[in-house]
Amino acid sequence: MNILVTGGAGYIGSHTVRALLQAGFTPIILDNFSRGHHGSIPEGVKTIEMDIADPQVVNVLKDNDIKGIMHFAAHSQVGESMQNPAIYYENNVVGSYHLIESARKAGVNHFVFSSTAAVYGEPKVIPIQENAELSPTNVYGRTKLMIEDMLKDYSSIYGSTYVALRYFNAAGADASGTIGEDHSPETHLIPLVLDAALGKRPHITVFGTDYDTLDGTCIRDYIHVSDLATAHVLAMRYLLDGGASRSFNLGSGNGFSVKAIIETAREVTGVDIPVVYGERRAGDPSTLIASSEAIKSILGWNPEHSELHQIIGDAWHWHQQHPNGFDDK
Ligand code: UDP
Repeated sequence: MNILVTGGAGYIGSHTVRALLQAGFTPIILDNFSRGHHGSIPEGVKTIEMDIADPQVVNVLKDNDIKGIMHFAAHSQVGESMQNPAIYYENNVVGSYHLIESARKAGVNHFVFSSTAAVYGEPKVIPIQENAELSPTNVYGRTKLMIEDMLKDYSSIYGSTYVALRYFNAAGADASGTIGEDHSPETHLIPLVLDAALGKRPHITVFGTDYDTLDGTCIRDYIHVSDLATAHVLAMRYLLDGGASRSFNLGSGNGFSVKAIIETAREVTGVDIPVVYGERRAGDPSTLIASSEAIKSILGWNPEHSELHQIIGDAWHWHQQHPNGFDDK
């Protein structure tokens, strides 16, 4: 069965392409390669270089007998979204509108959408459940929430179905070490800590030490990218089997501070990673931990790779083998 994967050459998309192959689906990648990597695509996977807003997407969907769409293609950097909101509204919101409309025209009725914990903003209750208040504090989160709303309206009025997966902190890499995280510029904690371990950066800067947490640094819920990938396959099966539209959180349910991440990275790498203590980063909530009970009980999902040493170990494996990321830059 053919599944279109937009952004399939990106970090989470490329891991999900492999999970689809393993589950017996035929993924077809649609990526404009503005940020994706040709080197992340497994041999033999059909790949179409096209923007999600391109009117030709209707023909791609029809000609390839697509049964469902996994929609990853998006800009995803919080900081950038606050500097340059226009590209987030254009690429994420307008682009997704065109994609969703192309799907309606082509009669493709099932969407698994890559959403984010950023739709919640600063949470009032930890762990965060799906019915928590949706109040994003940055443009990136707002664009993802707008797309969730669009999918919800299309679902209730036109009858398509979707699952929005709200990821917490995606990290780690495929156990093979052949694909992993490669953003430029990189802004995420774990790859930056590992770059410091490799000597590619002089140190890691801890953003804020005066948060209301045990050690004063921010707490996040890190989830292995391979566990995220499995959840997408389960969500697509659920929709194909007639499941109703809804959103699910995706996290491990465990929170780790920035200091704990650096400590674990020191253990995994054996490098005494240099640390500088800096100011808070604007817009960072102190603690984000997911309740993922809904996806566990409804889809039978279970995070199998999200123990912290494994997440950092797999990321380290990728970084050591590919210190400059993919070779297509
Ligand atoms: N962080 C940090 N130094 C860095 C990058 C990130 O201290 O160089 C902190 C950041 O403030 C947050 C956590 O690490 O508390 C995770 O940040 P990341 O950007 O990886 O993910 P986010 O939680 O923003 O999605």
